[in-house]
Order: sequence, then structure tokens, then C-alpha cells
Amino acid sequence: MKTYDLFINGQSVPPQTKKYFDSFNPFTGQVWAKIAQATAQDVDDAVQVAHHAFSEGPWSTMTATQRGLLMHKLGDLIARDAKELATIEVQDNGKLFAEMFGQLNYVPQWFYYYGGLADKIEGNVIPLDKKGFFSFTRKEPLGVVAVITPWNSPIMLTAWKIAPALAAGCTVVIKPSEFTSASILHFVKLFEEAGFPPGVVNVITGFGNEAGTALVEHPLTKKITFTGSDSTGKIINQQAAKFLKHVSLELGGKSPNIIFADANLDDAVNGAVSGIFAATGQTCIAGSRLLVQDSIYDELVQKLVTLSKTAKMGDPMSSDTQIGPVTTRPQYEKILSYIDIAKNEGAKLLMGGEVATRPECGNGWFIEPTIFGDVNNKMRIAQEEVFGPVLSIIRFKDEAEAIQIANDSRFGLGAGVWTSDIGRAFRMSEKIKSGTVWVNTYRAVSFMAPFGGFKESGLGRENGIEAIQSYLETKCVWINTGAASANPFTMR
Ligand code: NAD
Repeated sequence: MKTYDLFINGQSVPPQTKKYFDSFNPFTGQVWAKIAQATAQDVDDAVQVAHHAFSEGPWSTMTATQRGLLMHKLGDLIARDAKELATIEVQDNGKLFAEMFGQLNYVPQWFYYYGGLADKIEGNVIPLDKKGFFSFTRKEPLGVVAVITPWNSPIMLTAWKIAPALAAGCTVVIKPSEFTSASILHFVKLFEEAGFPPGVVNVITGFGNEAGTALVEHPLTKKITFTGSDSTGKIINQQAAKFLKHVSLELGGKSPNIIFADANLDDAVNGAVSGIFAATGQTCIAGSRLLVQDSIYDELVQKLVTLSKTAKMGDPMSSDTQIGPVTTRPQYEKILSYIDIAKNEGAKLLMGGEVATRPECGNGWFIEPTIFGDVNNKMRIAQEEVFGPVLSIIRFKDEAEAIQIANDSRFGLGAGVWTSDIGRAFRMSEKIKSGTVWVNTYRAVSFMAPFGGFKESGLGRENGIEAIQSYLETKCVWINTGAASANPFTMR
């Protein structure tokens, strides 16, 4: 059995209470590791160290170019260890090795991209309307950033936050999900090898209401960057507001994937399957509401069910497995309860709808890929996030109705549009209220492409050039170059 400690000031340290909790392998249902349970005292240690590294340590005197070079070295080390890191992630979250390995091979790009941006952070000279002054802006790092992440893509989602934070000159304390802490503790060891000074990147593991709350409320954390459920995001936003901290939130969704009669139906079916069954539906951008135009409804549903029935379930480490287990036991129970809700609401079960008992699923937390037809958008199964392999299909007549149904949601993270009409593609991408709209594709992300939610799907954007600004504060400097003293009782 592996035991994992906290990572503070470049070293593995046990929690002060010496308490550890279990981490489960979702494929076997067995405990495979013990993880340190941090309390507020451990959090204070980590934040103090990060604050020292930010304000006094070598990190604070490095040039932005030096920071960027370290990030490049780190990217190379992640690429070197991608297979090992992905294997640990699969053990913890049960997602397919192919998916996690793909992510880990892509993660270096975040460090290359933001490493390259580090020395391109520039202020402005202000063309003042007043004579005798020179004015300019400086962009200064915020300080210690609290990074709180969920279980579905532990290292990739952490990279989305820490790459721009480090490029900006901040230091970080990471609180990974209590369900998937192990891979982050391997990952942070690479920072030392790359040459980062100790204390720049720290990890405290533990529970949200204990370690997470302490991190959010600590007076020295200046920004909270969070990915997770909308309910936790709202709690964090309230806590952070008490101290006026900067906050960015990447929350859940109930994304519409909309298929028009003029689409290439085979491509659209492929996109629908990828939208809901990839990652066993455990992705914030899951296309969990499939909107299908009336005239092609029967044909499309038949193609979709036929393809979905071919999906191979089983060991996530096998290269031919397509659907793995659900990551956590509570999530498994939550998904099953939503299947019951949908049945009771009168949605028509087209396939699945039960625990998977196939021999290749062993004792893992598997649920059959599930499709409900004739769903009404007012049903709970169409309005609430399930975060599992459960699809709701909703009919629509025309473009106007598709837009109305798509936007009838408190979420607005992603949306897919399948059409061969270029005008319609533009109209739909303008009218849909979501942070991302994919046309004739689904579930594509890039370090360059801004990502985040409208409405209750979040605040702020990750990825792309603008993300780095959310780790910076603007200072405006005024220098008197010769203006005469003025009446002290009036504004200049
Ligand atoms: P969660 O909100 O329960 O937990 C996320 C993290 O927050 C964990 O590290 C947890 O320990 C911590 N936490 C919990 N309560 C806290 C508190 N009071 N203060 C501080 N930290 C606290 O979410 P989860 O169950 O780990 O992840 C699944 C959810 O995340 C889904 O709803 C999904 O939609 C969402 N998600 C969103 C995105 C996105 O980019 N928008 C990506 C992945 C997952």
C-alpha cells in the first residue's frame, strides 16, 4: 500500500495530526493508497512558505525570462514522465489510460505556452491629459494562489491554473480532490528537478470542508482558482467575498449538443457519443442534452443506439476499452439515483439504465451507458448535472426552438451544433449562451483557446492569453516631471 504525504517547501511532510485517509481504485473498488489528511495548521504552513517564496525567496528576484525557462524545462519533464503520471491517474480516477495519457502528453504545452508569455507581460504608458506628469502601468503578480481541483482530470486541470499563475510570478498551494490526490504528489516532484526554488509549488491534501476552507479563508491567499461542482463554487465565492479575494470558477454544465436535419448524421452520431460516453460522461463539458430535429429523430436515435451498444466496457488500462468505471462511490450512487428520477419523470429508456454486470467489469463501479428519449427540457434529468454516462434526447422543430431549449438552462459551459448550413452555424454560435460553441465537432480544448462558463457555469476564463491577466494586478504610477505645486485642497 502506498502512503502519500503533503508537499511543502519542496519536501514530503506528514500531516501534523498523522492522520491518513483511503484512496480507492474505481476498477477494483479496493483501497490502493493512503493520503495525508491536512488540517488548518498544515494549510497555514504551506501558505506561509508560499508567501515567503513569493515575497522574499529566489522566485521573487528571478526575471520573467528565467521563470519562463524553468517552465519550459518542466514541460520537458512532464513529457518524459507522461506514461507514469497517466498510469497513477487511472489507478485513482478509473478513466481510460488512452484519455489520461493523451492529456499528459498535451499538458507540457501549457507550460511552454505560458512560459513563453512570462516575459511578454507589459504595462502601458498612459498618454495623460495633464502636462508635467509621466504615467505608466505595472502588472504585478497577485501573490499566493489557492488552486482547488476536482477528480476528473487532476493534472491537466491543475496545469490550466498553475501555468498562467507561475508565469505571472505568483506562487501556489494546490488542494487536489480527496478522491485523486496521488498523481499531483508525483507531478510536483518534477518542479524541483526542473530547478524551481522550494516553496513556489506546494500541495496540501485533504477534505474540502477542512483543508479547502482553511485555504480559501487564509489571509495570505490572494486568489482562489477553483474547478468543481457549482454548489461548492458558490460556497467558495461567498467565503472569498468576505475577504474580497480574487476568484475564478470553472463549474459544471448541462450542455446542449444540437443536431439539425441538414447535418452529416454519421459525424453527428459520433459527436453525440463522444459528448456523453467519453470519460464515462464525467466531464464538465459533457453533451448531456442531445437536441435532435424532428424530421431525423427516429433515424438518428436508431444510429446512436446501435453505435453506443458496441462500446466496450472494462479495465481502463486496456487499449480496447471504451467506457471505464465511475470515479467515486458517491458519484456512482448519484448517477443511479438520476436514472431512477428520469424513469419516474416519464423519460423513455432506450438503452442501459442499470449497473453493468458484464464479467469484464469485475467489482468496479460500472454503469451501463444510458440513453433516455422523448425527454422534456423541464424534467430534472434535462436540467441537473448528472456527471455520468446518461444522455437525454430532446426533440425540436426548428432553429428558433433549438435556441430556446438550448438556453433554457441555468448552465452555459459548452454547446455543439451539427449542420451543413454555414449561415446557421454563425447564427447558432451567436445566439447560444455558453462559453464555448463547437460546430461540427465536440469536446475539443486547447491551451490557446479561452475556456469557461456563462451563467452558473462559472466566472472568468482559463487558457489563452487573457488567462494570465487574472493572476496580475494593475498598478498605475504617476511621476511629477515638473508640474508646479497646486492648491492642496482641490484635485489635480
Ligand atoms: P466538488 O465541488 O465536490 O470538489 C471539488 C474540489 O473542491 C475538491 O478538491 C474538494 O475537496 C474541494 N472542496 C469541496 N468543498 C469545499 C469547500 N467548502 N471549500 C473549499 N474546497 C472545497 O467537485 P467534484 O465532485 O470533485 O468534481 C465534479 C464536479 O466538478 C462536477 O460537478 C463537474 O461539473 C465539475 N467540473 C467542472 C469542470 C470545469 O472546467 N468547469 C471541470 C471538471 C469538473
